[in-house]
Amino acid sequence: MQKDVAIIGLGCAAYTAAIYTARYKLDTLIVGEEEGGMGVTAAEVGNWPGEVEINGPDLMDKFKNHALSYDLVEHKIARVESVIKNDEGFTLTYQNGETSTAKTVLFATGSNKRHLGVTGEEEFAGKGVTYCATCDAFFYRGKTVAVLGGGDSAVEGAAIAAQVAEKVYLIHRRNEFRAEPFWVDKVNEKDNIEFVLNTNVLEIVGEQTVTGIKLDKPFNEEEVLPVNGVFIEIGSLPATALPKEMGCDLDEKGHIKVDSGMQSSIPGIFGAGDVTNGSNRFAQFTTAAGEGAVAANSIFGYLQSGDGHSGAMG
Ligand SMILES: Cc1cc2nc3c(=O)[nH]c(=O)nc-3n(C[C@H](O)[C@H](O)[C@H](O)COP(=O)(O)OP(=O)(O)OC[C@H]3O[C@@H](n4cnc5c(N)ncnc54)[C@H](O)[C@@H]3O)c2cc1C
Repeated sequence: MQKDVAIIGLGCAAYTAAIYTARYKLDTLIVGEEEGGMGVTAAEVGNWPGEVEINGPDLMDKFKNHALSYDLVEHKIARVESVIKNDEGFTLTYQNGETSTAKTVLFATGSNKRHLGVTGEEEFAGKGVTYCATCDAFFYRGKTVAVLGGGDSAVEGAAIAAQVAEKVYLIHRRNEFRAEPFWVDKVNEKDNIEFVLNTNVLEIVGEQTVTGIKLDKPFNEEEVLPVNGVFIEIGSLPATALPKEMGCDLDEKGHIKVDSGMQSSIPGIFGAGDVTNGSNRFAQFTTAAGEGAVAANSIFGYLQSGDGHSGAMG
């Protein structure tokens, strides 16, 4: 049966949107590949209002349980391979060839971790090279690791890794971090974190697993820094393959261009969360949730009057 809305994603923006669409009594499908999305990789969340401190997996469990408490929300775990316009709305096709149809679609597909693009990165992926320090640090108890990057994920990742690893190198191509001062203070407090600034990694070397990283300038007189693990935390790229294929307008950084109602350039297609250019591209739980709520409101308005700009209250 055709749904009122298909929400693609199982992260913060998607679950929030589903809570709102269910309360607007819209028949809702929420479908995604990975439950909890990026949120489950946050080790410690201190800026979700109402929770002084909560870990990412617990927060996302709460989101999911809240969204699924409504009978009108159908939950599906699958990768969406295509979204195509049909006479009455849109058809979603999954990896196994099955399909769903919906009158409107909300892309809440988040982002994918950026790769470094150096020799050895692909060869040692999963053999010492990973893209989530907070998820994988546990496997490096007593070892030496390098965390690459200077933003929130890198600095938080280094702080978490330092709780288990013997030694952590935090390697950044610039001379200061862009991360929240809260996390910069945390890494400054750790004796086992050493900063390697103004430095690029040229190559990841190893045998069966990673044994070191080649730098563009010597550090402590070493050109190859011996490490057992490399956590690449150099940012993310919006997951816009599907909206791009449909012809949605994207901004210069590849995010879905949305208006203040989270409507894309294609009528009936909306976006919310890290995948959009909304909220000044400030990728956070609060902004993803806010955009999910606004999108649901606009979808309700669109289904009532064909106008996604006014929303239900407009
Ligand atoms: C290490 C780390 C720590 C963080 N800490 C904080 C913090 O303390 N505070 C804070 O506010 N923010 C934090 N963030 C940012 C926050 O996690 C994100 O901004 C937020 O989770 C984004 O939610 P989203 O719903 O937009 O996307 P995501 O959570 O990325 O969800 C995207 C969803 O789309 C699905 N998907 C993508 N493509 C497809 C497809 N083709 N088919 C099916 N499903 C698909 C994915 O499987 C996933 O379920 C942190 C991020 C990281 C990486």
